[in-house]
Amino acid sequence: MPTVYNWQIGREMSYPHEEHHPRTQFAFVFNLNRCIGCQTCTMSCKSTWTFSKGQELMWWNNVESKPYGGYPQHWDAKLLAMLEEANPKGQVWDARNKDAEKKPYGVFDGLTIFEAANQKPRPEFGSQQALGYLPTDDEWRAPNIHEDTPTGDIFKTQGKDLYGGDAQLPEHKVWFFHLARICNHCTYPGCLASCPRNAIYKRPEDGVVLIDQSRCRGYRKCVEGCPYKKAMYRPSTRTTEKCVACFPRLEGKDKVVSPTGAPAETRCMAACVGKIRMQGLLSVEEDGTWTKDPQNPLYYLIRERQIALPLYPQFGTEPNGFYIPARWVPRSYLMQMFGPGVEHAIEQYSCPDRELLAVLQLFRASQQIVFRFEIEEGPKVGEIEVTMPDGTAKTQELFNDTVIGFNKLGEEVVRVTVEEPTFERPADLHVNSI
Ligand code: SF4
Ligand code: SF4
Repeated sequence: MPTVYNWQIGREMSYPHEEHHPRTQFAFVFNLNRCIGCQTCTMSCKSTWTFSKGQELMWWNNVESKPYGGYPQHWDAKLLAMLEEANPKGQVWDARNKDAEKKPYGVFDGLTIFEAANQKPRPEFGSQQALGYLPTDDEWRAPNIHEDTPTGDIFKTQGKDLYGGDAQLPEHKVWFFHLARICNHCTYPGCLASCPRNAIYKRPEDGVVLIDQSRCRGYRKCVEGCPYKKAMYRPSTRTTEKCVACFPRLEGKDKVVSPTGAPAETRCMAACVGKIRMQGLLSVEEDGTWTKDPQNPLYYLIRERQIALPLYPQFGTEPNGFYIPARWVPRSYLMQMFGPGVEHAIEQYSCPDRELLAVLQLFRASQQIVFRFEIEEGPKVGEIEVTMPDGTAKTQELFNDTVIGFNKLGEEVVRVTVEEPTFERPADLHVNSI
């Protein structure tokens, strides 16, 4: 089996196909501290792509309440248990063996889903290129099961403390959070690796992973091999479908949103009420490294500041979806989910410096993709006392800086200040003014 380099696990790994990279890569950052679980993203996707007969179970975008919820139910707990079985020494990281370019989170010492399928075949699943399983019909039944169900202190007495203890922040004894998910358009997709028909491909222009419907024969090996369970079988056509990253919008074909033809964000990103989402297209070098571009907001958050982390990097698919972890959740739970970068990410988010705070204002500020930002410095407007994750107090200085975003064509598409402006509506013009 060929070997490929996976920067998220800090080492080479085996993968069924030769290493080959697109020119740019679709990627996104979701800020879990802000998601309110309103499902506007979910419905914007559903009403765009999956409203037809046979697509009833398809939620290409879903938002699940962690730790209990999941779509399909228990998708991650099941695969983690399988991976644990294949890794008798545990899914361990050497977080000290780091370097900013090639292994920013350290080195994952366990087996990925590709290596596990290779080294420890499971005859009961037949031939597998990626460790995985086919969910039952029941597991696809409820897209939002256990919505808003917390865990923590009160459950201890009832013997249900299975998920990593109390909330980390002192204000609350129990915790949950909303995990918004779409296809990660992985660099080394499990779905693509598993397809015996070679019906799945990664577009060279933007890294979007698509299923060629004319080649698909509905064997569902991709459903089995996608660790995130984002390939979904459609019984009415007997083929599998998945998120297409709203590629017409990426191509700048939506003239309402992009009059000059610049790439636009997907529907789920554009609709996000909680302003948790930012999406981008990152330039990729021939060897798969992202071109150094600190003025690109996604590159800045993921590679420069390492505040946004990949979801279950130990699976080995090098997902291109990244998350700012929720501050109140027990660290052991988060570290299983996002790897060893959690402490660093939460520390920065707890008290962002001037530049980071300005960039964080860009979330959901424009429907067009921001390729570059600039910051204009403003006056100091205040100071606040912040409690850091280790319990120490820190003073955060606040400046009313302005962050400006530019699209692919270099046109200014957004201008936001750190301090939200207040507008007074004159009483003589608006009867409901107060
Ligand atoms: S998330 Fe799943 S469906 Fe999407 S590219 Fe990765 S392996 Fe394929
Ligand atoms: S629209 Fe945004 S805030 Fe609402 S559930 Fe989706 S990701 Fe969360």
